[in-house]
Amino acid sequence: MKAAVINAPNAEVRIEERDPPSPARGEVLIRVHACGVCHGDLMLQLGQFPFARYPVVPGHEIAGVIEEVGEDVGKLHPGDRVGLSALFSSCGCCKQCLHDDEILCSQMQFTGITQDGGYQQFVLARAAYVAHLPDRLDFVEAAPLMCAGLTVFSGLRHAGFEPRNKVAVIGLGGLGHMGILLVRAMGGRVAVLSTSADKEDEARELGAERFINLKTESASEALRAWEGGADIILATPPAAEPMMAAFPGLALNGTMVVLGAPAGDIAVSPMDLIMGRRRLIGSPAGSRKDLRDTLHLAAAHGMHPRVIPMPLGDAGKALKQMHERKIHGRLVLVMD
Ligand SMILES: [Zn+2]
Ligand SMILES: [Zn+2]
Repeated sequence: MKAAVINAPNAEVRIEERDPPSPARGEVLIRVHACGVCHGDLMLQLGQFPFARYPVVPGHEIAGVIEEVGEDVGKLHPGDRVGLSALFSSCGCCKQCLHDDEILCSQMQFTGITQDGGYQQFVLARAAYVAHLPDRLDFVEAAPLMCAGLTVFSGLRHAGFEPRNKVAVIGLGGLGHMGILLVRAMGGRVAVLSTSADKEDEARELGAERFINLKTESASEALRAWEGGADIILATPPAAEPMMAAFPGLALNGTMVVLGAPAGDIAVSPMDLIMGRRRLIGSPAGSRKDLRDTLHLAAAHGMHPRVIPMPLGDAGKALKQMHERKIHGRLVLVMD
């Protein structure tokens, strides 16, 4: 089989020929059909995860079919359509694992970071961490749900999202565009904040009712003019400045959810926090329950993420495009 491998921090992606692995007890072998290209994959290439294990096959937005099962894998069978997220495995018995919060388990293993991921034709997975894909989702459109969709959905859930909420989405990359689709599917309203004026059409086509140009408008004033401010702000790009500019644009009791990690600190005024009872939270990907709910929501609403399919052989090129931030939608590697 073909596998795209990163041998060390800052190394180029290399395509290798490998033997497909065999699933051990409790494992399944997935024939990968599609794997999304996440910003996390670029961070992995740039050596920004101290806990990463090199050489490693990146990729944690996996959609495919069970090829082979090991012993004791419960209800999974060859031919089942499945997905695998960044949550490769967890301890299974700590407080977080026992409360549907295994994404915070201290023993968590990350697909495509500490374990080989989906930039290859076959990937091993722990049966207990694989999700069934609803019939209505095709592989290429399901892939971006496995991290971008899941991360947004879980962030909204932890921010206490309710239908009719006004949600401001900072940035219109992979996470941002999934944010618009998911919020609209759940009955929320959306404003997009972006530094690129040319993204306005795309934002409105996806369902945003407002577009705020961060280069020419004050983010907080524009948000407050939106019937008193945003109930939730989803901060997706790894840049602190727009987060700090937008924070005072939260409505009373509003919550900003930090999804992209800036290099520097995020400073907010204590008075903005206290006097409006506003909250600033961060949120990682999501649990298995979050993932099931994300997939069902997408299937029920016939959601179509904007995907740009690319062959596995172009994995290096895909990460380069991610670095140059020139992508409209989500790059998805498809296997031949
Ligand atoms: Zn645990
Ligand atoms: Zn990701």
